[in-house]
Amino acid sequence: MSKSVSVYLHIPFCRRKCNYCDFYSSPTCLGEVSSYANALCNQIRSSQAKGETVHTVYFGGGTPSLLSEKDFSLIVAALNETFDLSSCAEFTVECNPESVSPSLARTWLEQGVNRISMGVQTFSDAHLRSLGRLHTKARAEQAYRELRSVGFDNISLDLMAALPQQTVPELTDDLQRMIALSPEHLSVYLLKIEPGSVFGLKAVPEADEDLQRSMYLLTHDVLTRAGYEHYEISNFAKPGFRAKHNGVYWAGGEYLAFGAGAFGFYRGVRYHVPADTTAFCNKNGLLRPIVDEIVDAEESRREAVFLGLRLSEGIDRSLLPEGKKSFVETLCQHGYATLTDRRFALTAEGFLISDYVIRELLSVR
Ligand code: SF4
Repeated sequence: MSKSVSVYLHIPFCRRKCNYCDFYSSPTCLGEVSSYANALCNQIRSSQAKGETVHTVYFGGGTPSLLSEKDFSLIVAALNETFDLSSCAEFTVECNPESVSPSLARTWLEQGVNRISMGVQTFSDAHLRSLGRLHTKARAEQAYRELRSVGFDNISLDLMAALPQQTVPELTDDLQRMIALSPEHLSVYLLKIEPGSVFGLKAVPEADEDLQRSMYLLTHDVLTRAGYEHYEISNFAKPGFRAKHNGVYWAGGEYLAFGAGAFGFYRGVRYHVPADTTAFCNKNGLLRPIVDEIVDAEESRREAVFLGLRLSEGIDRSLLPEGKKSFVETLCQHGYATLTDRRFALTAEGFLISDYVIRELLSVR
């Protein structure tokens, strides 16, 4: 099999910071977005990985839909000049409903984008306001229709559950509305209160554990009954539509990082580009990347365990440590995991305690 890499590009701008978010992003100023796009092009063209064949491309953020059509096209031109994208299997752009337009969507399509990931989060206008989102339910549905009418046939929507004061019937309504739109892929996240977010600073409490658990299992039941595979802790797909780019992360594959705050893994090194947009623009994209970790054989085994257990296929049973047989048996007896001749995998109940399971399994050398 010929080797290829994936490409992640970070667009760290948002019109306004959402109340639950602690990602690296700064408020937009259009001039700044353009000079950032130029710096990104320069960083791409100066890549040490020049000439590599690219398997997937992912524009994440932040809000990549804030890039103008011209800037987006310039970045894709830089990618095409530097890498071989002729066999690129998936090219995703993340977007927010308020910044999608038919014209921008057409540009994406013309530039080779074949998958859209849109942050809907909820269809309740009251919850959208409380989250600090800029769109409404009506705008989210309209943006979805615009993407479809332009020709996108692979759309992923993000939904959040366990929102402040959210009830189970409200979540059920969100799930039904999602299913009615019939996206190919859904990512559903339980809201975690991050200390650096507005919610964190205001000490907004997280939904209690029982409610989180029942919302997670409800999501699993409703979406799997509607024909979606629950193939990863937070991800659901119609058959044939699993996320290929994220699949590279979960399989320990290589991906290059472009843009301030982007993370990469290439030739055994995990690294990131410093999360400083101003410095990134001032240095025309040539910020020295920071090495986070050199991945040796032992670390690679640990990664195979904790990344593999995120997936419904789980891990090869040979990766299970000898000393953990009775722990594994107990998990299986209580419905948290399954063990076959070849594989060990978590169930939906098991996904809820995956952090604990992984910690236990990796605590043995
Ligand atoms: S959640 Fe997304 S859109 Fe909202 S501030 Fe964070 S990165 Fe920006």
